[in-house]
Amino acid sequence: MTRFVDIQTLSDLIQAVGIPRFLQDLADAIREDFLRWPEFDKSARLASHSAVGVIELMPVSDARRYAFKYVNGHPGNTAHGLPTVMAFGVLAEVETGHPVLLSELTLATALRTAAMSALAAQAVARPGARRMALIGNGAQAEFQALAFHTLLGIDELRVYDIDPQATDKLVRNLAAFPALRVQRAASIAEAVRGAEIVSTLTARKARATIVTPEMLEPGMHLNAVGGDCPGKTELHAEVLRAARVFVEYEPQTRVEGEIQQMAPGFPVVELWRVLAGAEAGRQSEDQVTVFDSVGFALEDYSALRLIHALALQQGAGQDIALVPPAGDPKDLFRFTSPRAGS
Ligand code: NAD
Repeated sequence: MTRFVDIQTLSDLIQAVGIPRFLQDLADAIREDFLRWPEFDKSARLASHSAVGVIELMPVSDARRYAFKYVNGHPGNTAHGLPTVMAFGVLAEVETGHPVLLSELTLATALRTAAMSALAAQAVARPGARRMALIGNGAQAEFQALAFHTLLGIDELRVYDIDPQATDKLVRNLAAFPALRVQRAASIAEAVRGAEIVSTLTARKARATIVTPEMLEPGMHLNAVGGDCPGKTELHAEVLRAARVFVEYEPQTRVEGEIQQMAPGFPVVELWRVLAGAEAGRQSEDQVTVFDSVGFALEDYSALRLIHALALQQGAGQDIALVPPAGDPKDLFRFTSPRAGS
């Protein structure tokens, strides 16, 4: 049987452990898996583009487990009452191919993206950062705010969105976390001024320039999350030139990330190498660093294995017959009879 975890089940699981604990467990799981980087069979995700968005398949496997995620990115969706990003995924045993988990991954994507951003910032941002700018206050925003609060100690947020109602929602949702002070800014420049970390989470299928060179301050860390597909970026090219840039999986980020704007030889560092101690993170106090986040399949593998372990531990979700249950494996035809499978 395959364990099925829908969005309500995942929501219950998260509430049972608490968001801070869940984010910490997720960051730990991602770190563990990134430290096993060479053991994984990796590939850039397979993207189907349309004029209004993208639908992607993201596979990854090691000797034991195979995972894939289905995910879309449609910036215009919110105008029609649908999220920009929606996802689900599967975890399977490599030995048999049997799917052990079918899970919602929309909520999990927001959590794993935030945990990954915080993990990257722990590795390369200046230690002791307290103030973060959050540009783009949509579906991902609270998760990023809480991951940086929990994992890095950020306690002051300056938030900005071109849609004031998105910021209203963010302020309302974060009111439950009084240790995190939230201030509204009147512009991107105002939000960014004096921030040690700048997170960009905007959604527009365009070569946007959310952060421009004159906004940079010495030692700033940029967590650029919203530029994640061809023709969709958030940072001015000169910002990248002024910074040391860290990526997840270089072949995928060259096509989808902020660095799609740069020549093929533009230097970047894969983050797993920093986590493994094989390469330096930040090289000086004043260096500007960029995490060019696009989202890599291994982060979803980590999320899926954590969700699976929690679901089994807490008896959450349902066992479903997604593939033929026990019986004569050569008699598939039995499922065409009225008493299918019995
Ligand atoms: P969303 O549509 O819910 O929110 C995006 C927000 O950005 C909206 O509120 C919009 O008004 C705002 N915005 C657009 N242009 C802006 C601008 N110029 N200045 C300020 N705000 C602006 O989307 P979401 O689910 O929160 O996702 C945010 C982005 O992150 C998307 O582009 C999505 O594709 C991307 N994403 C990346 C990863 C990753 O792993 N890197 C994972 C998930 C989502």
